[in-house]
Amino acid sequence: MRRIFSDHAYDYARIENCYWAETVPDSTLMRPALIGAEKADVAIIGAGFTGLSAALRLAESGVKTVVLDATFPGFGASGRNGGFCCLGGAKASNGMIDRMHGKPARLEYRQAEVAAVKHVAETLSTHEIDAETHSKGETIVSHKAGYPFEAEAREIEENYGVTPTLHSKSELETLGMPGPFHGGMTTPIGFGLNPRKYLVGLLRAAEAAGVTVYGASPVSDISRSGTYALKTPQGTLEAEQLTLATNGYSSEDVPPWLAARYMPSQSSVIVTRELTDAELAAGWHSDQMSYDSRNLLHYFRLMPNRRFLFGMRGGLTSSDLSEAAIKRKIRSDFESMFPAWAQVETPHYWSGMVCLSAGLTPFAGPVPDMPGTYAGFAYHGNGVAMGSYTGALLAEQILGSQKLLSPKLMQKPPLKFPLGRARRALMLGIYAGAALKDW
Ligand SMILES: Cc1cc2nc3c(=O)[nH]c(=O)nc-3n(C[C@H](O)[C@H](O)[C@H](O)COP(=O)(O)OP(=O)(O)OC[C@H]3O[C@@H](n4cnc5c(N)ncnc54)[C@H](O)[C@@H]3O)c2cc1C
Repeated sequence: MRRIFSDHAYDYARIENCYWAETVPDSTLMRPALIGAEKADVAIIGAGFTGLSAALRLAESGVKTVVLDATFPGFGASGRNGGFCCLGGAKASNGMIDRMHGKPARLEYRQAEVAAVKHVAETLSTHEIDAETHSKGETIVSHKAGYPFEAEAREIEENYGVTPTLHSKSELETLGMPGPFHGGMTTPIGFGLNPRKYLVGLLRAAEAAGVTVYGASPVSDISRSGTYALKTPQGTLEAEQLTLATNGYSSEDVPPWLAARYMPSQSSVIVTRELTDAELAAGWHSDQMSYDSRNLLHYFRLMPNRRFLFGMRGGLTSSDLSEAAIKRKIRSDFESMFPAWAQVETPHYWSGMVCLSAGLTPFAGPVPDMPGTYAGFAYHGNGVAMGSYTGALLAEQILGSQKLLSPKLMQKPPLKFPLGRARRALMLGIYAGAALKDW
């Protein structure tokens, strides 16, 4: 696998201290490696939300499905994210989507975002997965005065058909959301969850439906003569059809079509110890999941067990040095946003890869020139709902069924980023521009 970050970014050490492992240990997720020759109707590469959702839906329709993961299910972003099951998936603004795809396509896509959140809620309920959900929608808090909440509220009404609630600074305080914020807005769609509990629930549901999942099985080569043959260190999987579900953990050569079509980008999270009653009284004590209005945003939520999760984007290189710098930065941002907790320990820090596309919208569709191959990726840091939904959409496409709303703009294959393997350099400019706007 030729990847564009150094091996450091894909190391186990990045999640060694992930809080979710305290709730669902890695050992629960580990699966044996593929050894020898095996056959399936559909082979899926990647056992995160995308791959497992696709697998579950296929198996429920009687399709023999085998999932291969390089490490273990949930090793990628799905087992280490912030647990915001929320609207999103595209980074493109309304204006950009309208220019590129037209307004009807944008409205169709926005409805799919709503359907994606509903899809996860239904999956949790159907498969009786207790994922420690909380929060009634999501609240954005402004980091500087003059944030255009009214204009944004009108866009939300148009896109999602719901009316957000605006909050003044003092209302935020009354609601248990104090901080250096100038106001806020709650959109009543979405909820917080424990992503590993959701992931393990999805994994078990897929296995119960007949899916075979292998861990420690990195696919190093895909060849085709009539059927696909996927090569792993100790085995080969032959399949009629193939699904690529590798998102931010994709490589340039498995298969070569992916080269330059995805942009991995890092996100990092810290989690506090359990907060005491006095600490909560002195600071944030709402169970609303929230994020700030920065372009390089912070996302945070008080979990039902009273630990506080705080995350942010960033990091263009991956090394011990850069990781240490991000760790310092996330802690210092946490302390300046929540000064009452400056002394509260954050024993958990980890990082992982999200994924962007050149058009800043997600992809869920057939791969050109690879008959019977489908791919789903590029959720722009919002793949809990959209990745799960994309997996279900890919299964629908394979089954030739149309039970779910499948936005046309998601079926357009992503264009290549310029600069090939050096494309991360583009992010320098994007991050610098975003940081300037955030000032
Ligand atoms: C720190 C962090 C916080 C985040 N917070 C949120 C959030 O709060 N809300 C939200 O909506 N989204 C969030 N995201 C994004 C979200 O987690 C992802 O969009 C989503 O999990 C992607 O799911 P996936 O199944 O497509 O990919 P992943 O979960 O990344 O899985 C890809 C899998 O592919 C496997 N793989 C790759 N190549 C191969 C190969 N050649 N052979 C076999 N296996 C292979 C990998 O091992 C990996 O397990 C966050 C991401 C990170 C990193």
